[in-house]
Amino acid sequence: MRQRICLWVGLTIVVLLASLHAGDKKIPADDVLQKSYLDLFEWAEQPKLSSAEIESLRENLKRGQEVCVSRFKQQASQYGKEIEQAQKQLKDEKKPLTDSQRHDLHCRIQNLRVLQSQAQMLAAHAIPIAYENRKAKLDLIEQWPKKFTEISNQLENGSYRNRRWGDVQDIGFREVEKDQANDIKEGQDAIREMKTAGLMPKEVENTAVVDYVTRVARRVAEHSDLKVPLKVTVLDSKEINAFALPGGFLFIERGLLEAVDDESELAGVVGHEMSHVVARHGHKLMMKAQIAGIFFQAAQVAAVLLTGGAAGIGTYYALQYGFYGLGLVLDLKLLGVSRDFELQADQLGIQYTWNSGYDPAGFIRFFDKMATTKGYVEGASWFYSHPPFLERMVEAQREITFLPKKKELVIQTSEFEVMKQALVEVTAKAKQEEENKPSLLAPEKGCPPPSKLEYEDGQPIETICSSRS
Ligand SMILES: [Zn+2]
Repeated sequence: MRQRICLWVGLTIVVLLASLHAGDKKIPADDVLQKSYLDLFEWAEQPKLSSAEIESLRENLKRGQEVCVSRFKQQASQYGKEIEQAQKQLKDEKKPLTDSQRHDLHCRIQNLRVLQSQAQMLAAHAIPIAYENRKAKLDLIEQWPKKFTEISNQLENGSYRNRRWGDVQDIGFREVEKDQANDIKEGQDAIREMKTAGLMPKEVENTAVVDYVTRVARRVAEHSDLKVPLKVTVLDSKEINAFALPGGFLFIERGLLEAVDDESELAGVVGHEMSHVVARHGHKLMMKAQIAGIFFQAAQVAAVLLTGGAAGIGTYYALQYGFYGLGLVLDLKLLGVSRDFELQADQLGIQYTWNSGYDPAGFIRFFDKMATTKGYVEGASWFYSHPPFLERMVEAQREITFLPKKKELVIQTSEFEVMKQALVEVTAKAKQEEENKPSLLAPEKGCPPPSKLEYEDGQPIETICSSRS
């Protein structure tokens, strides 16, 4: 059964009203904010919208987010009421149930719980993240003309060479941060804790996939400032994410390999994660915390999952659908995520990607894809651990502009295509295993498969907020 959510109220009207005039051309507000970051860099070199227009767009976004979030919250509480009703029916002594009626009710409750957890996840994570992206794009439209002039001037007068880590000819021979090797134990401890807490997904065993990812990561590492051995692990999880733990432990999740479209995108993500290790971000943020403390919350979530408590069902199904996973459960301190550190990792990552001969714009293209077509649902975890904000995109574009031009930058390789082929099998196997896996959280057997709230890849956020059945 595929249940659609009936959520048609005024938002679409708001969107329709928010059409803007820019120059002679009429541009619907929605279209502007659906442009990719790379397109916006070009489109917004000159001021295109007045401050009044930008303000009205900002107001629309704010209202849109409120309407959309409250709609899913209401939806979740509606499911909650239906669950209560069904539970009352189970206990109703005046109307005793046959075995088959009882079974149907169990299935119904099970399904409602899934729907409820999805609605909660959309309200708490996916929708706010989609709107964060929209806001970052609006900031870009507003501020890019000035930044663009700034960058052009720096390029012209040569002052760009004095930027932080501007000595890109010396990558590998300069010291971004001393004593990277001191973090190895910290990383090992974290991995052990994750395994104990039952948080570490199993590894992908397919050698074609693992060897390929390792090759790309090594190539980037060899052209970076990394001074610890790199350990690459490919996790069999549908989450679109990658992360690095202090001391050189790089984790790439299967979902990320499915989401990248070329080798330069993958290299861009690898370069970014590696930079957190090089600059010792995880270590710096962890200085005051104990690893065990970091995992306390995560371990609690895992405990609920493993014992099948109803409280964990939201997390459980969100993990099942790949909405989020480790990215949302792991402490951001451990991953070295803070606004400043993201900017640093973007800059270094772009340098390493470029130095390895890859097109450094791959990272922005990947970010763009997540922001424009996948971000609001599948990318919840990616954006949680890689928050979207204006400076990030501006600084990344600035770094790319300042790097010496290379003639032949790699975007795609035939090895990438071979990996993708091998990945099809890995994914199919994982799906099969998941279907056959007995779930502690679905104690009633023989029910129809759980419903999914209606959404499609690439659907703009307004659609899910106002979809009609
Ligand atoms: Zn990062």
